[in-house]
Amino acid sequence: MSNKKYPSVAYFCMEYGLESDFKIYAGGLGILAGDYLKGAKDMNVPITGIGLKWKQGYTDQVIGEDGKPYDSYHNYEYDFLEDTGIKVTVKIRNRYVVCKVWKTEKFGNNPLYLLDTDIEENNGEDRWITGQLYGWFKEERIAQEIVLGIGGVKLLRKLGLEVDVYHFNEGHAVLAALELIKEKMQNKYSFEDAWKKTREEVVFTTHTPIVQGNEAHDLEALEYMGAFNGLNKEQMIRLGGNPFNMTVAALRLSRKSNAVAQLHAKTANEMWKTTSNRSEIVGITNAIHVPTWIDSRVTNAFEKGDELLNVHNEIKKELIGFIEKRVGTRLNADKLLIGFSRRAAPYKRSDFIFRDLNIIEPLLKSGDVQVVFSGKAHPLDDTGKGIVSHLVNMMKKYPNSVVFLESYDMNIGRMLTRGADIWLNNPRRPLEASGTSGMKAAMNGVLNCSILDGWWPEACIDGVNGWQFGDGFESDDVKSVDEHDLKALYDVLINKVIPTYYNAKDKWENMMKKSIETTRNFFGTERMIEEYYKKLYTK
Ligand SMILES: *Cc1c(COP(=O)(O)O)cnc(C)c1O
Repeated sequence: MSNKKYPSVAYFCMEYGLESDFKIYAGGLGILAGDYLKGAKDMNVPITGIGLKWKQGYTDQVIGEDGKPYDSYHNYEYDFLEDTGIKVTVKIRNRYVVCKVWKTEKFGNNPLYLLDTDIEENNGEDRWITGQLYGWFKEERIAQEIVLGIGGVKLLRKLGLEVDVYHFNEGHAVLAALELIKEKMQNKYSFEDAWKKTREEVVFTTHTPIVQGNEAHDLEALEYMGAFNGLNKEQMIRLGGNPFNMTVAALRLSRKSNAVAQLHAKTANEMWKTTSNRSEIVGITNAIHVPTWIDSRVTNAFEKGDELLNVHNEIKKELIGFIEKRVGTRLNADKLLIGFSRRAAPYKRSDFIFRDLNIIEPLLKSGDVQVVFSGKAHPLDDTGKGIVSHLVNMMKKYPNSVVFLESYDMNIGRMLTRGADIWLNNPRRPLEASGTSGMKAAMNGVLNCSILDGWWPEACIDGVNGWQFGDGFESDDVKSVDEHDLKALYDVLINKVIPTYYNAKDKWENMMKKSIETTRNFFGTERMIEEYYKKLYTK
C-alpha cells in the first residue's frame, strides 16, 4: 500500500452532520465527519464513510412554558437514501441481528454507508438499536457499537472494497478492530500476531480531553452483549483494561492516533501518558468544509477587496429576521451582536457572561450588548439542562437583548456563525479539544473573542484578527480559573470589543479582513485531509 499516493480509507463514526434536516448528528463530532466526507469528495480521494442510520437521531430539545428544556423525539424518514440491497448480520445478546445498509452521496460527499436495524427480521428490542443517537448508555450503547464496528467491517467485505486504512473517529468504533482481529485469527494467526497486523491498518482520532467523557464498559456487559467477538477476558483486558475503556483500546489497536488541535495533542499525550503500549498521538487540527459554512457573498467581497462591513450587515439583518421569526424578538442591527452556540456542557460555561450582573446588566439594558444563544444539553445531563434554563431566564429578564434559540442544529449554526458580529467562546481551558464553530465564524468575518483553547491559539493574533482573553491561564482550582477568566472576559469586552465596534469601524472592518485572510486556507478540510494522508494514512 505504501506506494499508493492515496491509500483507501474506511472511516467509522457514530454521527455525520451532512445537512441540517438529515438528523443523524448531534454536534461537533458529526459536523467534523460530515465536513470530512465532503472535503474527500472535493479532493477525489478514496475515502468511504461508515455510520448508523438513526431512526430518531439526537434529541430535538424544546423549551417548555416553564422555561426548561424538554427532549422530544420523532421518527424520521429520508426518501433520498439508496437501498444497497446489502444486509449484514451481527450477533448481539446471543441473537442474530440483521442490518440493512443504506447509502448516500447526496450532499456533495464521498459515499456514506449507514447500517439500520429497524427492519422486520429483527425483534422489537433489536429494531431500536439504531433508534436514538446517544440516547442510551451501557448495554444499548454497546449494541450500537457492535453494529457500527463489527457490522461496519462485515459491510466492507460485502461491498468488496479494498481498504488500506481503517480510521476510527472517536472510540465508539473500536469494536471494528475486534472484527479485524477475528478475521485474522480465522486465518490461523495467533491473537498476538492478529493484534499486531490489525494495528498496522488502524488509525484513531481521539476527542474529548475529559476522562469521564471517554467511554468505558464493564467486561461482564461486553461479554453478555457479544462484544468480545471471540476473544477471551484476558485478551480484552490487555486491549482496553478493566473496565474496558474504548479510548485506551483504540490507542492500543491503532498504529497512530491524532488529537484534533495542537494544544489538544499536548493535553491528550499528558492524559494518556500512563497508558502502556499505546500509539503515538500527533496533532492534526480540525477544519471545516468551506462551501458548507461560508457565505459566498463574504468570500466574493473578500476576494474582490470590496467593503466587508456592508455585506456583513446585510447578513446580520438576515439573522435578525430569522431570530424574530423564531422567538419574536427584534434585535437592533446597529448594536453589537454576540453569538454563542454550544452544547450545554458545564466546562463550556455557556452562561459565563452573566456571572456578574453588576457589570453586564447595564450593557444589556442599554442594548449596547446583545447576545444570541443556542445549544442543547445531553438528555440525561441535569446540570446542562440547568444551564439552558438559566439562559432562558436571562432572555426573559432582558427581553430586548438576550435571545435563546431552541433545537440547535446546522441551520442555526450556519445563521449564527455568519450573522453575529462577535463569536464568543469561553470554555475552561484546556477542555475544548478543538471547536469548529469559531472557524466558521472567522472565515465569515465574524470576529472571535475566545479563551486560548482548542484551535484558537493556532490562529489568534490578538487585536488583529480577533481577541483572546485569559492569557492561557490554567489551574486545578476551578473557582480561581473562573474568577480569572471572568475578569479577562469583561476586560476585553468593555475595553476592546465595544470601543472598536462603536468607535472604530475601519479597524473593525480591517480585523474582519484579517480574520478571513488568516484562516481561510489553513482551517479548510483540504489541509486537514492532506495532513491525515501525510501523518496518519501513509506509513
Ligand atoms: C459547527 C457546529 C458544531 C461544532 O461547534 P463547536 O465549536 O465544537 O461548538 C456543533 N454543532 C453544530 C450544529 C455546528 O454547526
